[in-house]
Amino acid sequence: MKIAVIGGGAAGLTAAGSAIGAKPIIFEHTDKIGKKIYITGKGRCNFTNVCDSQTFLQNVVTNAPFLRSALAGFSPDDAVALLNANGCKTKVERGRRAFPQSDKASDVTKALQRYAENNGAEIRLHCDVKNIVPDNGGFTVEFVGGAESFDRVIMCTGGMSYPVTGSDGSAFELMRKLGHAIVAPVPSLVELYTEEDLSAAEGLTLKNVTLRADGVKPIFGDMMITADGISGPIALTLSAYAARREYPYNVFVDLKPAVAVEELDDRLLREFGQAPNKQVKNALDALLPKALVPFVIDKWGVGPSRQVNSVTKKERRALVELLKAMPLTVVGNAGFDRAVVTNGGVDVKQIDPKTMGSRLVRGLYFAGEALDVDALTGGYNFHIALATGHAAGMFAAKE
Ligand SMILES: Cc1cc2nc3c(=O)[nH]c(=O)nc-3n(C[C@H](O)[C@H](O)[C@H](O)COP(=O)(O)OP(=O)(O)OC[C@H]3O[C@@H](n4cnc5c(N)ncnc54)[C@H](O)[C@@H]3O)c2cc1C
Repeated sequence: MKIAVIGGGAAGLTAAGSAIGAKPIIFEHTDKIGKKIYITGKGRCNFTNVCDSQTFLQNVVTNAPFLRSALAGFSPDDAVALLNANGCKTKVERGRRAFPQSDKASDVTKALQRYAENNGAEIRLHCDVKNIVPDNGGFTVEFVGGAESFDRVIMCTGGMSYPVTGSDGSAFELMRKLGHAIVAPVPSLVELYTEEDLSAAEGLTLKNVTLRADGVKPIFGDMMITADGISGPIALTLSAYAARREYPYNVFVDLKPAVAVEELDDRLLREFGQAPNKQVKNALDALLPKALVPFVIDKWGVGPSRQVNSVTKKERRALVELLKAMPLTVVGNAGFDRAVVTNGGVDVKQIDPKTMGSRLVRGLYFAGEALDVDALTGGYNFHIALATGHAAGMFAAKE
């Protein structure tokens, strides 16, 4: 049985290791395997989330039910065990996020490489696969400089995020030629650009705020202000749920989610009463980070030099409403160059969720970010690559 694995990332290496007895060949078009692994988790690689399957699936944004079987076959505990067995000690941090004990993503790559090579896998670098032609129940894999016949092909070519790592989306064309539908890829887990200029507060982290948008459950946590808009955990989460939304769309930031409207109004009244001659631009420091005050006052529209004792009840109520729902207009995102993950990819309706095998072309399998599945941050996306890679490798070798 000859198996070609196209793509030497997390999914490809795991598929190669799981194709027991097949001695697979991994085709990787860059100069090294696992290029993306090195930059995951800020170089530490948050490789899984040690949670139960229900919690895991709740963190999957696109096509969660499709992953049920792959996760049952390869759980977060299995991911930990696989790395441990291949020389990478691991640890679990806050939020059940698992990392290599060394904090070095390269140790994850080494362990996955060992897993693949222990199964006899051969790794071919600088080997760009240009075409896959089904013939006589098998395939001819055409690559730069040659062609070779295989019984099975496993596509592990990733999505389109961080194309410098090799996942440039070029393989989607090969899949289309094989008859597979590709759900148009869009960036996810990505900085959002806003119409409003927040650059004066660039670098500021707003802690424990809530971000709301129509059709998305309010998201609570930290949000970062960037030169062009918003980023940080809750903005990235919103970018995932709203990945396919047309721009522009409105979002609302509750800067004081723990304080009810009346309570906040009382608090403002107190603040203003304590220093009635202060100008409004100097009166909000106790309530807001200093860098954000000019922006909020501008939105409020009363004029920064007004004395607080001249602020009417109606104006104060307007400020309360602003603090509870500061509107921002999202006009775009930072694109694939800076997106953590891709939303879109191979349409999962055409794939058997148990085996990762194509329903259209016998002997063809898919795994990892190339599939139209994506999840929130926390180790889920990497685990999806491992779990689908495991299923694809295992069934390609035995079906
Ligand atoms: C900055 C960043 C940080 C991240 N951090 C985390 C994290 O901490 N935790 C987490 O869970 N997820 C994280 N992710 C997401 C996660 O890394 C990916 O979802 C996962 O690694 C995808 O693995 P993959 O094997 O499917 O794809 P990839 O790693 O993209 O691998 C695909 C491989 O295929 C090769 N290839 C493509 N086309 C061809 C071709 N035609 N011929 C030959 N080779 C080809 C590419 O060069 C590449 O090596 C992060 C992503 C980024 C960008």
